[in-house]
Amino acid sequence: MDLREWMARHHPRLLGLIDWPGYRLRGRCWAEGCGRLMALHSPRRLYACESTPMAIAFTERGEALAAAIEREKASHLPAAAAR
Ligand SMILES: [Zn+2]
Repeated sequence: MDLREWMARHHPRLLGLIDWPGYRLRGRCWAEGCGRLMALHSPRRLYACESTPMAIAFTERGEALAAAIEREKASHLPAAAAR
């Protein structure tokens, strides 16, 4: 059992103590149009990146799934049943 597994089992709320240094030192920035190492961010740059949207998007499959979930939700509404 490695340290992270042990922490997850015994102190799940303290997992950040193990994950944060790796993220801060070796992780790449997720902000749209950045992608630099997190360690190379000045506090000002970090603030700018934190208020920039992440470079992620729905895939076609994800959009289809979201639409299916919306249809499913709408079919359970009482107003939809009355129609
Ligand atoms: Zn950044």
